[in-house]
Amino acid sequence: MTVDLQAPYDVNNIFARILRREIPVEIIYEDDYALAFPDIAPQAPIHVLIIPKGAYVSSADFGASASDAEIAGLARAITKVAENLGLSHSGYRLISNTGPDAGQEVPHYHVHLLAGAKLSAKLI
Ligand code: IMP
Repeated sequence: MTVDLQAPYDVNNIFARILRREIPVEIIYEDDYALAFPDIAPQAPIHVLIIPKGAYVSSADFGASASDAEIAGLARAITKVAENLGLSHSGYRLISNTGPDAGQEVPHYHVHLLAGAKLSAKLI
């Protein structure tokens, strides 16, 4: 089921439960603002999800409601993850599906980081 962008934040969505450590998670990176962990169904040799610690449904919600510190924190966390994974030269792709037309399935804002190979199906 895809995410309803108008719905209130579901405190029991899977990523909220990962943030509360109710579900085991392999932490790739963590700081005050963000958590990064492997996608359970990787679409590339490296497929990491980076999520803010705040309760935001989507990229739209995050952009509208997060503080400047949270927004900067997530951006810096994404860069740290890429650096820590040794991707500074080879590069990576960031994707954030937002709402039904983009097929967003988990109602907690997340950024996909895909890397580790020449990525196919470049849409833009
Ligand atoms: P979306 O389609 O952009 O919302 O992406 C959701 C992503 O979350 C998908 O790529 C799923 O494979 C991933 N996912 C769902 N549940 C888990 C989990 O428990 N751990 C890690 N990744 C998950």
